[in-house]
Amino acid sequence: MSRQELSNDNTFFVRTFGCQMNMHDSEHVAGVLTSAGYRRAASIDDCDILIFNTCCVRQSAEDRVWGNLATLASPDRRPRVVAVTGCMAQRHREGIMTRARAVDLVFGMDALGRLPSLIADCLSGPLCDMGDVAEARIDCLPEMREGGVRAWVPVSHGCDNDCTYCVVPSVRGLQRSRPAEEIVSEVARLSLEGVLEVVLLGQNVNSYGRDLGGHLGFAGLLEKVAAVDGISRVKFETSHPRDLSEDVLEVMASVPEVCEYLHLPVQSGSDRVLERMNRGYGRDYYMELATRSRATVPGLTLTTDVIVGFPGETADDFADTVDLVRRVGFDAAYIFLYSAREGTPAAEWAGDVPDPVKHQRHDELAGVQDAATARSLAGLVSTLQQVLVEGEAKKGGMVRCRTRGNRVVLVPAGAPRRGVLDVTITGSGRHALRGEVVDG
Ligand code: SAH
Ligand code: SF4
Repeated sequence: MSRQELSNDNTFFVRTFGCQMNMHDSEHVAGVLTSAGYRRAASIDDCDILIFNTCCVRQSAEDRVWGNLATLASPDRRPRVVAVTGCMAQRHREGIMTRARAVDLVFGMDALGRLPSLIADCLSGPLCDMGDVAEARIDCLPEMREGGVRAWVPVSHGCDNDCTYCVVPSVRGLQRSRPAEEIVSEVARLSLEGVLEVVLLGQNVNSYGRDLGGHLGFAGLLEKVAAVDGISRVKFETSHPRDLSEDVLEVMASVPEVCEYLHLPVQSGSDRVLERMNRGYGRDYYMELATRSRATVPGLTLTTDVIVGFPGETADDFADTVDLVRRVGFDAAYIFLYSAREGTPAAEWAGDVPDPVKHQRHDELAGVQDAATARSLAGLVSTLQQVLVEGEAKKGGMVRCRTRGNRVVLVPAGAPRRGVLDVTITGSGRHALRGEVVDG
C-alpha cells in the first residue's frame, strides 16, 4: 500500500515520554484516533501511524526522542506516518522535521481535535500545526484510557510560576484551571466506568482556581471530588511548597478518601540556591512545612524532587541539600542532574557545575536517600495497609497493588484481581513491599 492509500482503519501506536500529564494527553490522542476509526496497534513495530508524545524538561528526555527518531531514518524501517507532539513539538516546531527527516507531522496538543485531517494532509508533504490555545479544549476531546481502576484527571494546564531552570511554562503556557463542575462530572463518569482511584494532576495544584477568579480553591475541589459516589481514593500531584495551604492538609487529614500522600518538590536545601531558582521559600520554611504536614496528616508519605548541580551550586550549598534531605527523611525522592534549558534565565548564568561533579553529587545524595527509602519501607513491615489492585506484576505470579501512600506492594497471585484490599506487609525491598491479603 502506498502512503497515499492510508485509510482510517489503519493502526496507530503512541509512545509517551515524560510525566503523568503527558501519559494522560496520550490517552486523548488515542481517543481522538479511535473515534476516527483508527485501531491501536499491538506493538510499536507493527503500526501505520507512530506518534511520539514528547518531554523536554531535561536534555536527556529530548535525547531519547532524537535517538528514537534517528532509528527511523531508513524509509523501509518506518511506519507510513511519523508524528511528534507534546513539549518538544511546542519547543522546536518545524525544527523537528529539519533535524529528523523521518517526521511527517509535528502537531501541538492544541491542534489535537484535528489530528485525523492532519494525518491525511501530511501524506502530501511534511506539516507542522501547533493549533490555537484559545480554541483548544483537550479535556473535552475523546479519550481512550488504559482502563482499570485508576485514572488521571487534570485540574489545570500550564504554570504561572517562573522557576529559573524550568521550561514548562514556556511550552505549556500560563495556568488554565478547569471549572470544578467539569472535573467533578468527569470523575463521576469515571466512577461509573469502574474507576476507584483518581489522581488529580496539575503543575501546581495548590494554585488551582486562581485564574478563574472567585472560584473555589484546591481544598474545596478535593472535597467535591472525594464526595463522588464510588470513588474510594483521591491523590494529587504536584504541590508547590509556597502554595500548599493549611486547608489542603486539613482535608487530607479529615476526608477518608483523600490519601495520605504528598509530593512536595524541594529542589534544593540551600537558601542561596532556592533564591536563585526563584522558588519563593527557604530551607527553614520547607522543613517547618514538612513537620507541620506530618503532624496534621498522620501516616503521611512525603516525597520530593531535588535538582543537583544548579549553576553556581557550591560544595556548601550541596551540603545544605544533603543535610535537609537527611533531616526531613523523605519516604522517596527523585534526584535530577541540572540540565540547562535554552530560553530559561538559569541557562544564561555562569557557574556551570562540571558534569563529573554533578554526577558525584547525584550519587552521594542518592545514597543518602536510598537508605532513607529502605528505612521508610522497612518501617511498614507488619502494618496493615489498604491497597488498590492495579493488575498483574511484571514479576511472574504476583499481583501489583498500591498503598494509599503510593507504595507498590506485590502480593502472591490468587489475590483478587480488582478492587481495594486489606494487606499485611510481610517484607520490604529497595523500592517496593511484599504483602499477604488479610482473609475476610
Ligand atoms: N510542576 C512540577 C514539576 C515540574 S517538572 C513542580 O514544580 O514540581 C518535574 C521536576 O523536574 C521538577 O520538580 C524538577 O525537579 C525537575 N526539573 C525541572 N526542570 C529541570 C531542569 N532544567 N534540570 C533538571 N531538572 C529539572
Ligand atoms: Fe516548572 Fe516551577 Fe512551574 Fe514546576 S512550578 S512547572 S518547576 S515553573
